[in-house]
Amino acid sequence: MSVLDLARPDIRALQPYSSARMEASGGRVLLNANESAWAPPGDHDLACNRYPDPQPAPLIDALARLYGVRASQVLVGRGSDEAIDLLVRAFCRAGEDAIAIQPPTFGMYAVSAHIQNAVVVTVPLAADFTLDVDAVLAAITPAVKLVFVCTPNNPTGQLVPLREVTRLAQALVDRALLVVDEAYIEFSDAPSATSVLTQFDNLAVLRTLSKAWALAGARIGTLLANEEVIALLRRIMAPYPLPRPCVALALEALSESGQAAARGHIAIVREQRGRMARALADVPGVREVLPSQANFLAVRFDDASAVYRRLLGAGIVVRDIQRYPQLGDALRITVGLPEENERVLDVLQNRTQDSCALADGAVAGQPS
Ligand SMILES: *Cc1c(COP(=O)(O)O)cnc(C)c1O
Repeated sequence: MSVLDLARPDIRALQPYSSARMEASGGRVLLNANESAWAPPGDHDLACNRYPDPQPAPLIDALARLYGVRASQVLVGRGSDEAIDLLVRAFCRAGEDAIAIQPPTFGMYAVSAHIQNAVVVTVPLAADFTLDVDAVLAAITPAVKLVFVCTPNNPTGQLVPLREVTRLAQALVDRALLVVDEAYIEFSDAPSATSVLTQFDNLAVLRTLSKAWALAGARIGTLLANEEVIALLRRIMAPYPLPRPCVALALEALSESGQAAARGHIAIVREQRGRMARALADVPGVREVLPSQANFLAVRFDDASAVYRRLLGAGIVVRDIQRYPQLGDALRITVGLPEENERVLDVLQNRTQDSCALADGAVAGQPS
């Protein structure tokens, strides 16, 4: 059985849109795409009067090298959010098929499923926020085409060990595609599931340049999977998903100096994460700091709403995650610059005399 037998038959049969840039390339006089012959102001050699390459080879190659896979196993799009959407649309027949998720987890899986009118099968994480592989497997019906696993999980920060991922992939062969979302894996000690990608044609891995690579604003996310899956999704993706300036920024980030900068920032985040976790645990009113392998901490408070308001009053915006199951008393705090983290501690420990005045300085004014 091919993994594509799990996909929607109408999508497999679909005649894809054939863009001008796909049909012909290499000429020097380009009169086939109704573009302007003149570059726009401030273009800096980006040639933005021309449509971009749908899947630019230099970026695909750089990502394939970074993630240790073949170029044919890479689909790059507008953030991993776009890949999630493409997967759901390609694999789930509206009103019939389903995805499986383990709440509390990232919200986009369910949102994409609801947009497609796919059913969402939920298997809650255990009380300690670990993933129960046997419970997930017990919930898989023939309607479930995609199983999403987020590791480290957002918003709890916990890892799913690779052996559990492998066990899931193995048990789902010929039944469902396992989609492992590794948006935060760079901040962890864990090996990526890409290391077992070639062992399973029903395994897909989501990676992104939005978090550790500091490019959330450029929207570059990657799906790594079996080449048949990649080829199928390339047929239904938007014709030109990647703006030329974003591709240029991504290539810069993936250059040798860009990678060195990212590694330096990741090291700071990891160090600060440990420091914040220890300091927060001693703050009065903190019930628990969940262990995190990501660039954020989920923290339980006696009164999370009051803490949220107090931080906001000091100009610090954190994520209120009280609406998530099992996290009714929690906030999610991203690890920021050392001085920003210090300010959080100052406010929570009531160390600031005039927190609003301080906030007007460095923190307020900055995008969250
Ligand atoms: C932030 C995040 C993403 C989205 O990443 P983009 O590449 O920016 O779309 C995906 N998954 C998880 C778990 C995230 O937290």
